[in-house]
Amino acid sequence: MITAHQADPTEDLRRERSQASFPSRELAALMAGGEAQLKLRERIADAVRADPVFSKKGKYFMERADLYRTTLEKYLALPRLATAIDPNDPITVGKIIRELIDEPGGLDLHLGMFIPTIQGQGDEEQRKHWLPMCTKLQIIGTYAQTELGHGTYIRGLETTATYDAEKEQFIIHSPTLTATKWWPGGMGKTSTHAVVMARLITHGRDRGPHAFVVQIRRNEDHQTMPGVTAGDIGPKMGYNAVDNGFLRFDHVRVPRRAMLMRYSKVDPDGTFHPPPVAKASYGTMVFVRSDIVMNAALYMKKAVTIAMRYNLVRRQSNPGGEKASGGVGQKGLELQVIDYQHSQRSLFPILARAFAFHCTSDFMRRMYFRYEKVSTRKGDFSALPELHATSSGLKAYCSWATKDAIELCRLCCGGHGFMMLAGFGTTFGNYAPNATYEGDNNVLCLQTARYLLKVARAVAKAAARGGDVRDAEEGAQGTSAYILEGGGGLEPGCQLGKSVGLRDTEAALGAFAHAARRQILAAASRAGTLGADAAMSRDMVAWIKAAKAHCAYVVLLNFVDAVAESKPRVSSATAAVMDRLVSLHALATMDDNMGDFLEDGHVSADQAAAIRAEVAVLLAELRPDAAALVDSFALDDYFLNSALGSHDGDVYRRLYDEVQSAPFNASHVPPGYADLLHSRLIKGAGRSRL
Ligand SMILES: Cc1cc2nc3c(=O)[nH]c(=O)nc-3n(C[C@H](O)[C@H](O)[C@H](O)COP(=O)(O)OP(=O)(O)OC[C@H]3O[C@@H](n4cnc5c(N)ncnc54)[C@H](O)[C@@H]3O)c2cc1C
Repeated sequence: MITAHQADPTEDLRRERSQASFPSRELAALMAGGEAQLKLRERIADAVRADPVFSKKGKYFMERADLYRTTLEKYLALPRLATAIDPNDPITVGKIIRELIDEPGGLDLHLGMFIPTIQGQGDEEQRKHWLPMCTKLQIIGTYAQTELGHGTYIRGLETTATYDAEKEQFIIHSPTLTATKWWPGGMGKTSTHAVVMARLITHGRDRGPHAFVVQIRRNEDHQTMPGVTAGDIGPKMGYNAVDNGFLRFDHVRVPRRAMLMRYSKVDPDGTFHPPPVAKASYGTMVFVRSDIVMNAALYMKKAVTIAMRYNLVRRQSNPGGEKASGGVGQKGLELQVIDYQHSQRSLFPILARAFAFHCTSDFMRRMYFRYEKVSTRKGDFSALPELHATSSGLKAYCSWATKDAIELCRLCCGGHGFMMLAGFGTTFGNYAPNATYEGDNNVLCLQTARYLLKVARAVAKAAARGGDVRDAEEGAQGTSAYILEGGGGLEPGCQLGKSVGLRDTEAALGAFAHAARRQILAAASRAGTLGADAAMSRDMVAWIKAAKAHCAYVVLLNFVDAVAESKPRVSSATAAVMDRLVSLHALATMDDNMGDFLEDGHVSADQAAAIRAEVAVLLAELRPDAAALVDSFALDDYFLNSALGSHDGDVYRRLYDEVQSAPFNASHVPPGYADLLHSRLIKGAGRSRL
């Protein structure tokens, strides 16, 4: 038995929890949507942990084939367990189990893109035909859009679907090397089918990219269909339980009804009917982007939970003496690394941002489902431009921030943070492509920027008419309504720390709105009468920055609103800690981007210094609540799968125990020993010991 050091990390975490200023359970219940929801999540986590199929033991030591297989096993066992936990609502339970598994696998695209695309773009008959087979896993599908030559520029796709009216069939073909589909998840080995995006050609005319359901592999023996070439694209920086693949077609014939025809249609004689509303098929894309916003909150919580718990138990020197960092250093012990101020400055704003993203993801979910209701029930697509702009921008803003936060959390954990056992490696590797897939983040910011340009022009037009800029309101709905408020007139400077306190959220919101509005209106003014494409391409960096500033405002707005709405339902202690988080999020974000606020003098140099000082005060105030705040995310150890982030803080024991059973440690003799090392080392035999 190896004895513990005198500073017991588990005791450290226990003490940290006991000194919290608020009940973490109360905040956890609020975040989960109520105590019943929280209990349900706990019950599900207990069931998953108890089921051997779901075990994550040894996951970090696995080869790719084993990782693929064990992940697939978990996904296949998911419906059984979900139904056992709640036969009345296996879908909700299944979603939570999938979140807990926390490993994208061979079925991810089937669940996340293939089914939603058929649901969103198939007509009723097509949905009835395909979806039952999908849910029973009698077919497994992927989504094949990106090609070797083109990803972002969808109109550049080269795969063709040429209609043959005589046989009432489409001929799917990859005419060039660069037309090869590249990246579809699950394409490498798992899928039998794919939604293939191909340029529709009818009556000799190119109608642009459309979606076709194409069988890729036979159900009988999983061999490729005639004319299809497919395989796996090889190892990636992460995401390796997913078999991303390549796919080529050599004049593969599919029936006319393989084209998803909810919006665009092709008659048997080849007559083409465009969608009644341009961009009506954007629904699936918007849904998936909204989902990424929701996941950003989850992975930010995950990274900061691991890093915070480890920073609370890791002790390293005590440069300021035992009373360093406000007296938190304990006599005779080294300092907890969280008490180094830079650790707090790194981790606490991430903590606050995780709460902010949680609120933003709730907002995104509500916005999407509201749109879905009115668009499907009433055929009303009027909310689409704003939804599209918001989901694009927030997808980019939140996924960038989360990717960076995971890495910053790792850096705050020193050497042990670099162990796979810490959990940051797979979390980063699996999370990072969120910045690329479903639309490269810079490109998505430009889509948001186009919308902002339209709003800015409506504002300018109304102002030029000499009327109230509010006349332009039809162009500025919901999240962009703040653009109207500046109205081109002179605005008073930021009031933070002047007529109101530094923690005044309305004044902070005003500053965020001002910074975004200023950048949007300035870029719009530089654009003059240029078309949107030219405006974006000539002033791209400024527009991307303006879109980010807009998103920063939307995130803060949602955080402020959600906290204001929740406070009456919680104790005053919890309300107080929520207020601190909002203030920290607002002020630390300003501090990190101070140039945007100083540039036009909206914030003065003195205010900037005061904001920085207030951030330091907030860090100290939040310090006693650090453990309780990450506890309130209620992330189960099974999900975290981290030797550094477990709830009990028993970091060193876990690290030590886990490596004892590592396959690489099975023998002292390394691979290649006989032919590479033995002949050299043997010569030292008998002389190597003094
Ligand atoms: C892990 C992973 C999984 C994926 N899964 C799938 C899948 O299942 N199915 C599928 O079809 N695809 C999938 N993809 C592909 C993904 O959707 C594309 O990689 C993504 O859309 C970006 O396209 P691209 O690779 O062509 O990048 P490019 O467009 O080549 O981008 C390269 C650079 O050029 C810039 N750029 C390009 N165009 C513009 C523009 N108009 N304006 C400004 N800047 C521009 C980008 O910002 C970027 O910096 C996956 C990718 C990854 C990494």
